[in-house]
Amino acid sequence: MKITNDVLYILNKLAEAGYEGYIVGGCVRDSIMGIPPHDYDITTNALPDEIKKIFRRTVDTGIKHGTVTVLIDKTGYEVTTYRIDGEYGDFRHPSSVEFTGDIIKDLSRRDFTMNAIAYNPQKGYADPFFGRQDIEQKIIRGVREPDLRFKEDALRMLRCIRFSAQLGFDIEPQTYKALTQNCSLIQNVSIERITAEFLKLITAPYNEKILLFRESGLSDYCGEGLKKALSKREKEIAYLFGKIKKDEISALAVIFAEEKDAYDILKSLRLSNDIIRETMKLIKYYNSDVFCDIFTMRKILSEIGTESFLRLIDIKEAKNEGRINEAKLFISSEQRITKKDININGNDLLILGFKGMEIGKTIDRLLDFVFENPKNNTKEALTREALKWLH
Ligand code: ATP
Ligand code: MG
Repeated sequence: MKITNDVLYILNKLAEAGYEGYIVGGCVRDSIMGIPPHDYDITTNALPDEIKKIFRRTVDTGIKHGTVTVLIDKTGYEVTTYRIDGEYGDFRHPSSVEFTGDIIKDLSRRDFTMNAIAYNPQKGYADPFFGRQDIEQKIIRGVREPDLRFKEDALRMLRCIRFSAQLGFDIEPQTYKALTQNCSLIQNVSIERITAEFLKLITAPYNEKILLFRESGLSDYCGEGLKKALSKREKEIAYLFGKIKKDEISALAVIFAEEKDAYDILKSLRLSNDIIRETMKLIKYYNSDVFCDIFTMRKILSEIGTESFLRLIDIKEAKNEGRINEAKLFISSEQRITKKDININGNDLLILGFKGMEIGKTIDRLLDFVFENPKNNTKEALTREALKWLH
């Protein structure tokens, strides 16, 4: 198990002060699988105040839940006191947390056996639920009683499917059965938490597991939009997922392209305005013959930009539509002209006497003028043309 020097330093400092410390959760799981961890979480029997005494620079990021962020140079490491969750009254949040001195108790409140493993270089593994064995067999298994774990926090069901798509693991039968029986409880979880997991699922290496999201019944309770989109086209979506790049915007477009109220659905998922705008660009052209001729390609490129155009090529190639080679050649050639490349700008038009809305419209017309003949892209020619339209 590889551990960075910063993490070793934190574990050593805790030990010097007389406390236990382990790395835990995703970083241990990933290391066992040979994947470099994207961050390290540390768990300890030191209480938050004690952690703050041991380390010079700390931030109270989640002190109520026992988490203190320890800063080493510019990197923050979450150090969390062993805890047990109190009663869960509402299928999502424990009503209280309680600290404990026992690592095993801390591990037993975690979601899946593969996430309930702790490691310390001197003490070795704490793996009371045989998570390493499940990792080896590529199995996702709820800790202790899956049914209870899903009732305590319903988001765990979506995490289960998301991990299965990220790691390519199967879900252990009892765990899957419990998931199918508790699906409706996810309605108690905030849409923000659902969307964060959903985005990880649709961009995961095995994102065709979106089929499980549907088959288990879980997608029926994550909002009307998802329910509608996935109940009609789940096979087609999974098929296209297998072909397109793992990209959030393209994946969202593929899922919602056939929905008349796609924009409202994206809004209801509380996605950022940027993501919604980019996704809607692809949806607009999802079913149209975009690559029919150079003139059309130029117009669409200038409207949606290079990045979206490349995504459209990727999607249309997956859909096995025609003229893909022509589109690839087009985008890589110099034929690309967009508003930015035109040798006249809004300010020039203002000086010529254009006002307000006229300016944008005139630039669009000048773009057509340049499309017709690239030689028209000189300030003189564009000015002459623009003046013809000045009222
Ligand atoms: P990722 O690679 O996506 O970060 P991760 O396993 O680190 O995966 P996190 O959401 O960062 O996932 O959570 C860290 C750890 O906290 C998990 O490995 C798990 O032990 C525990 N955990 C997180 N969310 C839950 C939850 N909803 N219920 C129970 N345990 C959880
Ligand atoms: Mg993590």
